[in-house]
Amino acid sequence: VEVYLNDQWMPSQEATVSVFDRSFMFADGIYEVTPFYNGKPFRIEDHVARVKYCLQQMNIDFDISALHDFMLEAVERSTFSKEDAAVYLQISRGMAPRSHFIPQEIKPTLLLYAFQVNLADFEDRHWKVMASEDFRWHRCDIKSTALLANTMANDAALSAGYDENLLFRNGHFTEGSHTTIFFVKNKTVYTHPEGRQILSGITRKVVLELCRDLDIVVKEEAFPVSGLKEVDEIFLTGTTTQIAPVSSVTIEGKEMFASQKGEITARLQEEFVKRTRER
Ligand code: PLP
Repeated sequence: VEVYLNDQWMPSQEATVSVFDRSFMFADGIYEVTPFYNGKPFRIEDHVARVKYCLQQMNIDFDISALHDFMLEAVERSTFSKEDAAVYLQISRGMAPRSHFIPQEIKPTLLLYAFQVNLADFEDRHWKVMASEDFRWHRCDIKSTALLANTMANDAALSAGYDENLLFRNGHFTEGSHTTIFFVKNKTVYTHPEGRQILSGITRKVVLELCRDLDIVVKEEAFPVSGLKEVDEIFLTGTTTQIAPVSSVTIEGKEMFASQKGEITARLQEEFVKRTRER
């Protein structure tokens, strides 16, 4: 793979960063994953806008205007330029002597590369999940490379044979370790409101648009764990996850929800495939 680093394209084996890069010392950076369906970017403007938001929140001074073209170039340079792919990009605050203090004159480190990902046939991959306490920080709206809590939550799930870990805080679901959660109850779709407790998912945004277009009622409210027994459908969304039906939810070893793929999940998937593929 070719990667873009330090203002140039290079083979990944040659791409190295300083041990004093703040992304290495402090996870002081943000990242983004943008999908390409059959070589064509989907919602790339939204992904760039989220990068901009995160940089502002972290006070990282970086000009995002070239990111769009860099992402296209990463895919064009790859051997899979007409296939399904995604671009990973990361912007670190840059290199500085190790200190909590952030110096003024510091040049951010941009890393970017394309990778192949299978975005087809996701519709009937049912996810069996667990749920546990959300022990992340209180700025989950920032797509930070500091993903230790997310990777620990994900590992707790995968090592116990589950596909994802749904997190809850104060008795209400926030989001998955790398996904947004949607609940369907009495034909109404519920998802956590935007804010500091969740990442504003781009797929979340797309699904909310789909609901609007399909006349499906949405409530952006935190859903209580105690409400699981009244739920008809659960699905998870994310850039590479797309829209995944949840087949069961287990909390502390007890199965609290079990279902086949629901009607609303299926309708949203169908429309999602049209919007991502038929462009
Ligand atoms: N929530 C978290 C914690 C994530 O890491 C992600 C990213 O994959 C999502 C939600 C979904 O966001 P998006 O739909 O923009 O990929």
